[in-house]
Amino acid sequence: MRAAAVAAFAGGLTAATLIVVHVVGSWAGGPTARTGHVAASLRPTARPSRRASTASPSPSAAASAATPHFAVVVAELSPGLRAGMTASGSWRPSCPVALDDLRLLTLSYWGFDGAVHRGHLVVNGAVARQIVSVFRRLFQTHYPIRRMVLVDHFGADEDRVMAADDTCGYNGRWVYGRPGVWSEHAFGKAVDINPLENPYVYSGKVAPETGRRYLDRTLRARGMIEANDAAVRAFASIGWGWGGSWASPDYMHFSASGK
Ligand SMILES: [Zn+2]
Repeated sequence: MRAAAVAAFAGGLTAATLIVVHVVGSWAGGPTARTGHVAASLRPTARPSRRASTASPSPSAAASAATPHFAVVVAELSPGLRAGMTASGSWRPSCPVALDDLRLLTLSYWGFDGAVHRGHLVVNGAVARQIVSVFRRLFQTHYPIRRMVLVDHFGADEDRVMAADDTCGYNGRWVYGRPGVWSEHAFGKAVDINPLENPYVYSGKVAPETGRRYLDRTLRARGMIEANDAAVRAFASIGWGWGGSWASPDYMHFSASGK
């Protein structure tokens, strides 16, 4: 693995120590797994071409040329990333989970632009493999995700994270609007998907405020999560609950505890 490649798309938050490296089979194919080729597989991949061809190559060659693969790297947090998280405030010594127990996931996702991108999520190491399985399923269904960068790029400020429509995992913060109560995100056991299109409703307010129009859940706009859709089913497959079903809905939110 070329650490420089990871460093480049981690925006300076480098991942020097890689503990699990695996690239899984194509979104259209079976659950094949192989090791290696990670740097190549993590490069942005063009959308599959549907051009007709009278002289088709062999099926396997055609698939490898045209089919984007889900790629993932699970890594311990590098010293640079630890420093960045401490500087932004996403992690502090008083936080409930140690930096050693968190993992950086670098994984493929489908953007709103219909192209494959590489995203970053920090999650609790105890659930890292489960989260990978969720995002593999989302990739297989071309589930659209706006953005997936670390909260540290927004100073770990939840309002900025949501306004930027950033899909995120770990953040050592309180429950939104409830100072003093650790969020499930502070345990690395919660993920928010497309927060702008899937806002949080609390005490008569909406966060992010710019997501207010998406309170009309009949819009069915790109990135909106619906009951029993691919995202809800993918998280349900690992036993995680969806905040969209709450009396005061948090449409973006999935968590291991269901809280
Ligand atoms: Zn959340």
